[in-house]
Amino acid sequence: MPPDTQPSASSDASSRLVVLGAGPGGYAAAFLGAELGLDVTLVDDAEHPGGVCLYRGCIPSKTLLHVAQTIHEARAASAWGVRFAPPEIDIPALRAHKDKIVSRLTSGLGQIAKQRHINFIRGRGRFTGPNSLHVRSDSELVEFDFDHAIIATGSRPAIPGPLRLDSPLVMDSTGALDLADVPERLLVIGGGYIGLEMSTVYAALGSHVTVVEMLDGLLPGADRDLVRPLARKMEKELSEILLNTRVAAMREVEVDGIRSIEVDLQASDDETETRGFDKVLIAVGRLPNSADLGLEHTAAKIDERGFVCVDRQLRTDEPSIFAIGDVAGEPMLAHKATREGRVAVEALLGEPTEFDPLAIPAVVFTDPEVAWAGLTEAEAKRQHIDVNIVRFPWGASGRAVTVGHTEGVTKLIVEESTQRILGVGITGSGAGELIAEGTLAIEMGARASDLELTIHAHPTLSETVMEAAESLFGQATHYISKPVRSRS
Ligand code: FAD
Repeated sequence: MPPDTQPSASSDASSRLVVLGAGPGGYAAAFLGAELGLDVTLVDDAEHPGGVCLYRGCIPSKTLLHVAQTIHEARAASAWGVRFAPPEIDIPALRAHKDKIVSRLTSGLGQIAKQRHINFIRGRGRFTGPNSLHVRSDSELVEFDFDHAIIATGSRPAIPGPLRLDSPLVMDSTGALDLADVPERLLVIGGGYIGLEMSTVYAALGSHVTVVEMLDGLLPGADRDLVRPLARKMEKELSEILLNTRVAAMREVEVDGIRSIEVDLQASDDETETRGFDKVLIAVGRLPNSADLGLEHTAAKIDERGFVCVDRQLRTDEPSIFAIGDVAGEPMLAHKATREGRVAVEALLGEPTEFDPLAIPAVVFTDPEVAWAGLTEAEAKRQHIDVNIVRFPWGASGRAVTVGHTEGVTKLIVEESTQRILGVGITGSGAGELIAEGTLAIEMGARASDLELTIHAHPTLSETVMEAAESLFGQATHYISKPVRSRS
């Protein structure tokens, strides 16, 4: 929305907004609400805003993944004639580095909240009615009345029954990011993005990592063309990837005073094998934090998976209460939470706004990275949309060769009748940055010819997007392929 049409609460400056949860959804909503003149209270039990994303999600994991990438690059350099000694990993120093980054960013958010005159309260909120809640902190219980509230309470790791084991050797993603040690044998349960990112970190630090995934491929739901280069690389980096396999049981055992975890792994042919690991990371999904919010005192409803039900304005069935971010549905991603937070604030100020993106980018920060936005090939098929598919292999990119990252692909899903870009997928180094062009193309209704005719700097990996568009017509400069369609 352009600045001169920004909604404003100036006509109702006393309008009180309470935001429960200060993750990227909650703090973005609180910051915009304050900018637009609302009287904002932001509630979270942490010292500063940040939520899962900053304290135990995106930021600490990406800090450690950058370290993993540095280790990989140093190792790869030996093939270019530059040899480094094997890395010495100082775990306490690495942990302190990660904690310092988290602390810098969260205290920065605390400063911004202060500068915007937001009332930040430490505690847990619970609704007592459609316009009231109480906040419980260590020392007191404070009652609040509000005109509007936004639920932004996020999500927590899911631990299914058979995997529940009260042992310090079993971790969730929060425990893994704490980086207590680098276990020699680590089992990662779950081949989704969190499992694979943490596998990348621990393998680079020296663990022998086994990944076990119940389904028949890594990153279930992601495009197979994108997953293939990553799977090939991970097969080399990790000890083992066990697909179509589930963990049937786990127990802690002690041999000669050394404790470890014994795991029964059941393949789809029902054969069970028992193996030992020094630590186990459970990364099988996340659950919305919707219980215990006192929603029974309001008209807000929860669906069968625990998500708070909202409309396209993020409004619950209780008109004064909105819900955003992980607690309000998939995809559970920080940038989706942030956008929803901003839409909710505009909506409660009476603006004709909606959360209706054509594309929410998703990035897996592995090595190589995997990123996509918009429609996947499989979704296009499911929705009976006629599309043309083009793939540009990174082996044909000059930049990919110079940086030694030829394991990658850029893929476009183009609507057949209009030539519009409906989906973009990229696997390769820096795919998480490159996907922004694809997201913009989809949102702006760009056609393949728009990408083709936009001059991309040379030599860059972004040229793969342009050349993928060129190859739709069989005319990519650096890649010979049959035209998928004619220009008409
Ligand atoms: P959250 O960030 O979950 O914050 C919710 C806050 O509400 C928490 O601080 C919680 O303590 C608080 N809260 C809960 N109940 C109450 C209550 N009753 N009263 C007050 N406060 C309450 N996403 C990405 O987009 N990119 C990534 O790279 C990425 N990496 C991730 C890596 C890991 C290891 C994990 C676990 C997640 C990652 N995510 C990533 C997901 C991302 O962290 C979430 O999608 C995002 O944090 C959701 O934001 P949110 O605002 O909905 O809630």
